Order: sequence, then structure tokens, then C-alpha cells
Amino acid sequence: MTSRKLTAGGEVVAYCTKCRMDLNHRIVALVDGIPVKVECESCGSHHKYRRPMEERATDKRERKTASSPRERSAPAPRTAGARAAAEAVQETAREKEWQSRIAGKMADEFVKYTPKGSFEADALVHHFKFGDGYVVRVIDANKIEVMFRDGPRVLAQRI
Ligand SMILES: [Zn+2]
Repeated sequence: MTSRKLTAGGEVVAYCTKCRMDLNHRIVALVDGIPVKVECESCGSHHKYRRPMEERATDKRERKTASSPRERSAPAPRTAGARAAAEAVQETAREKEWQSRIAGKMADEFVKYTPKGSFEADALVHHFKFGDGYVVRVIDANKIEVMFRDGPRVLAQRI
């Protein structure tokens, strides 16, 4: 399929503002291949190019059908930036929680963590590498989740 290139002096179907209908027009002037000024071949008036009514009506119908599924669909996926921001908020909340659990506690309230130890939820532990933390939950007889300043870790117990 070849698309006919529009040229000045050529013909195009446009809406005539005088005749008030789509008619053949002679192109008087173009900008970037788009007619800007046309001459109606029916009434002879020169006027700004206006797209045919028929074409504009089709556009409207297409826009309507194209936009409705978008409106129904779920909200746009978060951007990486928004995700990072949400994670940062979560991270701040997590660290605050950790601080409130640890704050004001005496050193002797912390149990030195060793994998041989036996821990319960909310127990305060001191890890040789990760520092102070609290037991978030006992996962099973041999696993606990401990929250440290820089994040939670699953550690062994009773081994
Ligand atoms: Zn006309």
C-alpha cells in the first residue's frame, strides 16, 4: 500500500466551513506535510484546513472504546521510585520498632545469642555480629526470627 503524499496544488478531502461538509479541497499550503490552507473546490473559498467530519467522528469513537478498558483496569503499576519510597517508609517504621524494643534496656537483659540457646518471642538477644535484637517469632523448634538494627534474620536455636 502506498500513501499518497500531499503536496501543494494536490487534493485532499477536508471539511469546508462554508459548505459545512466534507469536500474535495485543493491544497494551498502545507506545513510538514500537513495541509494548513485549502481551497474548497465546491464553493471556491479559501480557509484553514479542517479535518473531515467523518474522520473526526471516527477518532472520537475510537478514543471512547480505547479509553474505557484503561479506566476499568487496576491503577498504574508503581514506579521504581514510588516502590523505593514505600520501602524506605517501611524501613523507617521497622527501625523505630526495633529502637523502642531496645531503648532503655540494660545490657544484662540481653541474652548472648548462640545457636545452642533456646529463645522465646520478644526475648532480647545480643548477637556477636549483628548486635542487639529481639526475637520477632519462634519459627519452629530450631529457628527463630530476630530483628536487628539493620534488619531481620532467621537464626538457629537449640542445635
Ligand atoms: Zn466549500
